[in-house]
Amino acid sequence: MRGLTFTFDIPTIRAEVLRREEAVRIGIPRGLLFYHYFPMWMAFFEELGAEVVVSPPTTEEMVSLGCSRVIGDVCLPVKVFCGHAFSLKDRCDYLFIPAAHSTRRELYNCPKFIGLPDLVRATVPECPPIIDPDLDINKGRQYLYETAYKLGFLMERTTSDVESALGKALDAHRLYGLRMQRRGLRSPQAIAEVFPQFYGENGYHDLEPAASGSTMTVALIGHRYLLYDQHLNYRLFHRLRSIGVNIVTAETMDRGKLTDSMLDIVEGPYWGYEDEVVGAGAYYLRSDVDGIISVVAFGCGPDSMMIELLQRRAKHIGKPYLNLVLDEHSSEGGLVTRIEAFVDMVRRTQHRQRKKVYINRRDGQEKESIDALGIPNMGEISAAFKTAAKLVDIDLIVPTITKHTISLGVRYSPEQACLPFKAILGAFVECLEQGADTLFMVTSSNACRMGYYSKVHEEILRDLGYKFKFLRHRPEDKGLLGVLRTIRRCTNHASWRKVVEAYILGTAKLKALDDLHRKAAKVRAVELQRGQTDQVYQAGVEAIDEALSLLKLKRVEHQYQRELNRVAIDTAAVPLKVGIVGEMYVVVEPYVNLNLEVELGKLGVETQRNKTTYISEWTSLKSYMGVLTAEKQRLAKYAYPHLRRDVGGHGLESVAEKVRLAREGYDGIVHVAPFTCMPESIAQNVMPRTEENIPVLTVLCDEQATQTGLLTRLEAFVDLLERRRRDNGGVAAMQ
Ligand code: SF4
Repeated sequence: MRGLTFTFDIPTIRAEVLRREEAVRIGIPRGLLFYHYFPMWMAFFEELGAEVVVSPPTTEEMVSLGCSRVIGDVCLPVKVFCGHAFSLKDRCDYLFIPAAHSTRRELYNCPKFIGLPDLVRATVPECPPIIDPDLDINKGRQYLYETAYKLGFLMERTTSDVESALGKALDAHRLYGLRMQRRGLRSPQAIAEVFPQFYGENGYHDLEPAASGSTMTVALIGHRYLLYDQHLNYRLFHRLRSIGVNIVTAETMDRGKLTDSMLDIVEGPYWGYEDEVVGAGAYYLRSDVDGIISVVAFGCGPDSMMIELLQRRAKHIGKPYLNLVLDEHSSEGGLVTRIEAFVDMVRRTQHRQRKKVYINRRDGQEKESIDALGIPNMGEISAAFKTAAKLVDIDLIVPTITKHTISLGVRYSPEQACLPFKAILGAFVECLEQGADTLFMVTSSNACRMGYYSKVHEEILRDLGYKFKFLRHRPEDKGLLGVLRTIRRCTNHASWRKVVEAYILGTAKLKALDDLHRKAAKVRAVELQRGQTDQVYQAGVEAIDEALSLLKLKRVEHQYQRELNRVAIDTAAVPLKVGIVGEMYVVVEPYVNLNLEVELGKLGVETQRNKTTYISEWTSLKSYMGVLTAEKQRLAKYAYPHLRRDVGGHGLESVAEKVRLAREGYDGIVHVAPFTCMPESIAQNVMPRTEENIPVLTVLCDEQATQTGLLTRLEAFVDLLERRRRDNGGVAAMQ
């Protein structure tokens, strides 16, 4: 079965299946994608002769267990999912938790859907073995069929058995969709109609339409696993119905309508279920519903971006909008008060004429030519590109990230956005204030929020009244040619010769800056006079910034490498070695990580960042020849079997580096991540499970973090590493 890497242990499961008389029991937790694919999964496994066991509706025990097991800023639905998995531990032989990378062409799912089986395996070790096929529609039908065959192979079924099971499964899925779209059944009702055993008596009466004569209709939007988990949302449907509100929801709508409406707000979809949130929101914003209520989970990455767009649009057209944020601390009283107040407000204003027209502020506002281009700083980008931009006659504005930048970003950003989003937004405001007429942002297509940033940044900046052109380096701008084309778009289509020259100088400077950074991290740890390394390093950065040619650059690069060699050091010292891993922006940008590496250096620690967090690694010619992909594959072997797939961002690298650096004798790891970062929150939960016994200090970055707080933690961490080294008979770091 070519190219298929299965992470679940086939031979053991097959042997077990063979040994058993009665049917294999497959457990399916009632959370997350259950509301999208349960009928399909049920039909498939039932046809293969398995007995399917579903966890009961959410209980407080499940919530508290999930919250006690899953670390930190992971969203409530994932915590509760772990509670559901735990509730099945003695009731089934295997848990079925697919890693759902992508269920719609070119669209990726939230990183937590991708890393879910690994997160459950790490946080609920009592669980039975997990069957976790990687579902990725972009890998084509053949791959999906092979995945199904392999599942059938587990059950000792023939290829034709599997084909019939697949046929049944696809039929069940199609009929499930029709029940919702044609007959207006809500997801649980459509499931209960076929599988009443999973819903008991009153499981879904709450979902019935409001009593006749109801005078108000409200659209409820959000992920199904929040809308239909009556324990988490305190029976929201029932509460609204009981105060005479009729409710409409997305899954009963025609998907085409959802997609069309979505394109009214975003140029193109990014996440798998964006149409059920942004699409539904856009549709109902234009419709006659009296108001919209969105239900989101605290810490939900995609919703922090998508709901922001909807709320801004609702404000523009004067549509009443309420956003309910759920987490394990939410209270029933608080929720009820908010919806009753909202319904009262809608009732009071129901008959007031609303301004329906939405003015698209993009039209005709953009200047053709670019005079000043603004880009958000990250590490030493400014020093690398400012003079290079002069070669293509562009005035590049790259404000240094400061307290003011962050305060601007925090003021205008959605509260639940991650810190890099806020820092970049603040930087864009400063760019525009400093005269930029065009902004530039890199986007991505790997599931984390970063790929969605620019949509929301643009909406916020236009709402603030700024007039500018917004240019993006898009995922489809692949390879070196794609990059050069992007540079041309950002430089009034400068000549190819000038573009290539600027690219070569800019990337050569990036390499020189990264090499200087690597060297400084070593010297700083053993310097005799504290701060000397940073003086030389800063002088080197300025000299590299001012270099107008490759020749000049080579000269200053060698000069400052030599200068660092001349820094007086403690030659007898054996500094502690600490790996810095985590999300790229917060690892690279010293202002948002509170100068972490310099502070560790002052404590006599030699730091080393993960290779793929150095920007020059992404711009080197080698990177276009697959070197970075090979590096990721190399690292993936270290992360296996704890994290078995790429969850976007640097999540996989963080787990892999913990294992690799421990094996290479490092003393400790500092895991840096933005608060609520999705890929890193998965890594944070998986890292404690690896066998390597190396201390990991997790530093979560948000606008509340303080230098003093960080320094206290770093000093305690270094003390711990020192003690461990001494206890293991190692030499003291500083003689
Ligand atoms: S982060 Fe959001 S989209 Fe992802 S699993 Fe949590 S609630 Fe769902």
